[in-house]
Amino acid sequence: MARNDIPYKIYLTESEMPKYWYNLRADMKNKPAPLLNPGTHQPMTAEELNGVFCDELVRQELDNDTREYPVPQEILDFYKMYRPSPLVRAYCLEKKLNTPAKIYYKFEGNNTSGSHKLNSAIAQAYYAKMQGLKGVTTETGAGQWGTALSMACAYFELDCKVYMVKVSYEQKPFRREVMRVYGASVTPSPSMTTQVGQKILAEHPGTTGSLGCAISEAVETAVGNPGYRYVLGSVLNQVLLHQSVIGMETKIAMDKYDIKPDVIIGCAGGGSNLGGLIAPFMGEKLRGEADYDIVAVEPASCPSLTRGVYAYDFCDTGMVCPLAKMYTLGSDFIPAPNHAGGLRYHGMSPILSQLYDDGMMRAISVPQTRVFEAAEAFARTEGILPAPESSHAICAAIDEAMKCKETGEEKTILFGLTGTGYFDLVAYEKFHNGQMDDYIPTDDELEQFRARLPRI
Ligand SMILES: *Cc1c(COP(=O)(O)O)cnc(C)c1O
Repeated sequence: MARNDIPYKIYLTESEMPKYWYNLRADMKNKPAPLLNPGTHQPMTAEELNGVFCDELVRQELDNDTREYPVPQEILDFYKMYRPSPLVRAYCLEKKLNTPAKIYYKFEGNNTSGSHKLNSAIAQAYYAKMQGLKGVTTETGAGQWGTALSMACAYFELDCKVYMVKVSYEQKPFRREVMRVYGASVTPSPSMTTQVGQKILAEHPGTTGSLGCAISEAVETAVGNPGYRYVLGSVLNQVLLHQSVIGMETKIAMDKYDIKPDVIIGCAGGGSNLGGLIAPFMGEKLRGEADYDIVAVEPASCPSLTRGVYAYDFCDTGMVCPLAKMYTLGSDFIPAPNHAGGLRYHGMSPILSQLYDDGMMRAISVPQTRVFEAAEAFARTEGILPAPESSHAICAAIDEAMKCKETGEEKTILFGLTGTGYFDLVAYEKFHNGQMDDYIPTDDELEQFRARLPRI
């Protein structure tokens, strides 16, 4: 097909849509390290995990071998409401940058949660429903995951209890209200409703909370209430499996028009959107069928891949969750105020951590002010108001396109535009008023947290 026959926005027809999730682990020679029991340091068994997570999700979590998971019809039906997400050629941005590079982005912000998180939320709610559970518990930081899960639970008529990091609960009252539209109950964390919350409040009165602390509260509530399980929006293998729908759609759309990306870029918080976007491309790379330059972009204030260590660590502050081997800054690391709430997690997906350690992808970090400059340049040329998290990928894509301008290379750049920034206008306001903080932790600071990693 001639190049000028390629549409600006590539959608897929019903018959072209992916019908299965792709489990990248099946093609990894070095599998991600198993989760360990925090008490015994032995690999977590399915029986142990079943007390916390839904049975089918535990099976997916532990399955390093099954390459394809058919997507259940009920989930395919839900996906019809907002998928496929468009793969967009950023013509206007290219023109503005005057670059010979071709830039494509996969836009996941076309649903009420405003992000890719709905792709996994609906799957997790479905398996909870199939198991006959009453409801699920979770934590949310910036609020995108809590919103996505509330939507998914409303669809399957499940109860949804969300622990929202207190600072976000207070700063983003509208996010909280959207969750309540979908019937979720939202509790600011730390709270007096759990033992771990009471303990943290006694030790740190007036604390504004953290993601790690909210996780501990959500897990305690799930374990203590019959008919409830805990669900998580990122980091875990099962979440990357569900998010592979992003990459599958992208790959099918690109193959349809014979487009091959040279560089694939995504922002990385816990790693779920990046892991999903790259899945089928990384699969080809692992099998030696193709090569791609794959780039994770993280905030300079929370640099788990670029400055963390690859070690077993706790997933939460309360140290009740299993230990995961991952690139981590330490479970009690609290990043400096940073407006990309979804990128503030101390660790990284064990799958991406292993691939990074094996040299299959690279990682860079960018300071916050540059991210917002890129966000604004993107909004002004492509029209979409991007989420601060997504704007990390925009920033790296623009840098890559500008390099092409210098060298004259006509690279094809693909990046993940994970969501929209309508609830992040306080951050944009700080940027416009010149009040944005670009604090980057020193080596000495990072070393203090490193020294407290569990000894395995
Ligand atoms: C949560 C979130 C992220 C980061 O999470 P990952 O698991 O690393 O994908 C990125 N962008 C948006 C819009 C998010 O909501």
